[in-house]
Amino acid sequence: MLKLASVTSSLALVLAAALPCAAADGARDMLGYTASSAAAEVALEQRFDAALDPAHLREWLRQMSSQPNHLGSPHDKANADFVLQQFKDWGWDAHIETFDVLYATPTERVLELVAPTSFKATLDEPAIAEDSTSSVREHMLPPFNVYSADGDVTAELVYVNYGVPEDYKELERRGISVKGKIAIARYGQSWRGIKPKVAQEHGAIGCIIYSDPRDDGYFQGDAYPQGPFRSEQGAQRGSVADIPVYSGDPLTPGVGATKDAKRLKREDAPDLLKIPVLPISWGDALPLLKAMAGPVAPEHWRGALPITYHLGPGPAKVHLKLAFDWKLTPAYDVVATLRGGEHPDQWVLRGNHRDAWVFGASDPLSGQVALLEEARVLGGMTKNGWKPKRSIVYLSWDGEEPGLLGSTEWAETHADELKKKAVLYVNSDNNGRGFLEMGGSHSLEHVLDQIAGGITDPETGVSVLQRRRARFAVIGSEKDANPQQKEMAKAALDMQRDFPIEALGSGSDYTPFLQHLGIASVDFGYGGEDRSGDYHSVYDSFDHYVRFGDPKFEYGIALAKTVAHTVLRFADADVLPLRAGNFADTVAHYDEELHKLDDSERETAEKTNRLLADKAYQLAADPTQTLLPPPAPQAVPFLNFAPLDNAVARLQSSAAAFDRAYAAQLQADRPPDPAAAQKIDTLLQGLEQTLTQTAGLPGRAWYEHMIYAPGLYTGYGVKTLPGVREAIEQKHWDVAEKYVARVSTALDAYSARLDQARSLMPER
Ligand SMILES: [Zn+2]
Repeated sequence: MLKLASVTSSLALVLAAALPCAAADGARDMLGYTASSAAAEVALEQRFDAALDPAHLREWLRQMSSQPNHLGSPHDKANADFVLQQFKDWGWDAHIETFDVLYATPTERVLELVAPTSFKATLDEPAIAEDSTSSVREHMLPPFNVYSADGDVTAELVYVNYGVPEDYKELERRGISVKGKIAIARYGQSWRGIKPKVAQEHGAIGCIIYSDPRDDGYFQGDAYPQGPFRSEQGAQRGSVADIPVYSGDPLTPGVGATKDAKRLKREDAPDLLKIPVLPISWGDALPLLKAMAGPVAPEHWRGALPITYHLGPGPAKVHLKLAFDWKLTPAYDVVATLRGGEHPDQWVLRGNHRDAWVFGASDPLSGQVALLEEARVLGGMTKNGWKPKRSIVYLSWDGEEPGLLGSTEWAETHADELKKKAVLYVNSDNNGRGFLEMGGSHSLEHVLDQIAGGITDPETGVSVLQRRRARFAVIGSEKDANPQQKEMAKAALDMQRDFPIEALGSGSDYTPFLQHLGIASVDFGYGGEDRSGDYHSVYDSFDHYVRFGDPKFEYGIALAKTVAHTVLRFADADVLPLRAGNFADTVAHYDEELHKLDDSERETAEKTNRLLADKAYQLAADPTQTLLPPPAPQAVPFLNFAPLDNAVARLQSSAAAFDRAYAAQLQADRPPDPAAAQKIDTLLQGLEQTLTQTAGLPGRAWYEHMIYAPGLYTGYGVKTLPGVREAIEQKHWDVAEKYVARVSTALDAYSARLDQARSLMPER
C-alpha cells in the first residue's frame, strides 16, 4: 500500500501540475490549426457542448429499447425509421441503405442430459418483476448462437475450459480428445466463435458455451436484480461466425450484399461452422458439469460453481438438437450527411450500431443515443450558419451483432469511393460510467490526446485524459502488475509524451474501415465502473442500464463530446491533424517485441528439449495421473528482421522530418496556401492505406492491414504486425520472413508518402 500511496501522491502532483482541464488553452498548439483557427474551433466545440441535453439520451434509450430490436425484427425497422426521421428533422441529408444478408433464427433447440441421469435444460431467461421489459416476449429471440450449424448429436461431454488452442494442448497431455464428443466451454478470454471453431478443428461433433459465475456472475458481485451481474438463468447470445477470416455477410465476402450480388452457397461459406453450438446459463450447465468425471481440471480451469471441475470424457452424455430458419434478411443502415463547404469530397465518418440481441439498452443503444444527440446539435449548428469544411457522414448500423454485417456491406459496396474520400472513421458501441477507453490508428494518437485533455470527467472534474492516465498508473503500480501494465504505468507518468492509445483488434464496426479498407479509425467508449453480466442477455434492459450503466447519462454526454470534438477537429482543420512520429515510435516498439518473441520462442524450445532429454516431465509427474510430456518442439531459427529494422529506421526519420515541417507550417498564424493544403490533405487522406496489401494476411486476404488485425485465434484481441507475429507463434518461419518483407514494403510506402507531403510544405 505504501508504494501505491507514494506513487499516487507524486502522480497527482505531476498530473495536477501538467494537466488542468485543457479546454481553455486547448487552442495552444492545436494540431491541424493555426492559433486563430484553433481559437475559433475551441469556441465552436464549447458551443456544441453547451447545447447537449442528457434528457434526450434517456428518452430515446427508453423508446428504442422498449421492444426486441435484433436484425430483422419489427422494432429494429421502427428504430431505423425513427432515426431516419430525426436526421431529416435536424437538417441532415439522410436515407436508408438496405442489404440482404444471410441470417438464421432458431426453430428448434433441445439440450438434455441422457446419462448417467437425465436433465432437460430450460434454455430460457425468465421474466422478473424488477425488470419491466423482461416480460415483453413477442418477437424475442431465445438464447442461441447465430451461424451455428443445424445438428442432432448425442455424445459424452469434455470440459475444455475457455476452449482456446492452449487448452487443447493441456487436454492432449492428459490423453483426452474431443473427437466424436461434445465440447463444453466457458465464455471469456476470446471471441466466442473461436470456441466451436477450435472444437470442430479437433473433431468435436457439437459445442456448448456457458457463462461461469466466476467470469460475470455472483463471483464478481451481486447477481441481477440485486446487483448487475449475471443471474442463474442469464445467458449470452452471440454470433459464432469466424470473423477473424472476414467480417460481414457470410455469403458475400469482399463485396456488398446488394440484391444482385453474387452469393456463395451456404455450405461453401468459409466462416460458417459445420457443427451445432448453443449458449446456456450456469443454471443449465451445473447439472451437466456435475455429472462429469475423469481427471480433475487444472486449477486455472476451475470456475466458481459449487462443484469439483472434471475434464471427462463423460460419463455425462448429452443430446443436442438445433434447427434454424436460414434466410436472407434486410439490414437497414441509416446514412446521414452534412455536406462540407470547402472540401465536400473529404468525408469524416462516424458510426455506432443500432441492432441488439434483445432490448440492447447498453449494447448498443447507449452509444446510439449519444450519436443521435451529437447529430441533433450539429444539425442545429448548421441551421445557425455553421458549415463544416469537410463533409460529415453519420451512420446508424444494422446487423452488427451477427457479424458486423451492416457496416461491412456498406464499406464493401462503397469501397472505391471511401478509399478516395474518407479521411477518418470514428466508432463507438456500448457506453457506461467510468474511464475513457480509446484505440485506433497511431497517427491519430496526438490529436486524440489533445481532445481527451479537453473533456471534463463528470465524476471527478479533471480531464478524462488525466483520469485515464491515473487509472493506468495505479494499475501498473500494483504488486501483481504484468509487464504491459508496468509499461503503461510508466507512460502514464511521463508527461512529456502522449499517453498511448490501444491498437484495434475487432469486436465492433471499425474493422471493415481500418483492417479491410485502410482508413484511419478510432474507437471510443467509457466504462469500467459499469461492470455487469447483462451482455447479450434479455436483462440488458433500460431498467438495468439506468441502475447500473449510466444513471444520469453523464457518460453518454461525455461520449457525445469526445466523439463530436474529434469529428469537428477533422472536419474543420486547416490540414488533417495527423502526427506521424507517434505511429513510427509505436511500430518500432512492435518490431522490438517481435525480436523478443523470436528469442523467447527459441529459449523455450531449447529449455523444453533439455527437460525432455532429462526425462524431467516423467519424473515430475504423479504416475497415477495421466500427464504426458509435451511434444518435442522444433528448433527455432534466427529470423532475418533486417528489412523490417531498416524500414522502421527510414520511417522514424521520415516521420520526424514530416512532423517538424507540419508544425512549422501552422506556427506562422496564417493558413497554408489552399492549393498546397489540398494536395497535402489528399496525401494524408490516403496515408493509412499505404499500410494495406491486397494479398492480405496468411489465409485471410480480406484483412489487408499489415499493422493491426484481430488474432486468428483471439477474434477480439489485437495482433500487431500480425503476418509476422502469428507466423512466429505458429512456427511458420517461411511465412514469417515473407511478411517481414511485406510489412517493410508497406512501411516504406508510408514513409514515401510522408516525404511527398513534406516536400509540399514550404520551408519556414
Ligand atoms: Zn455492440
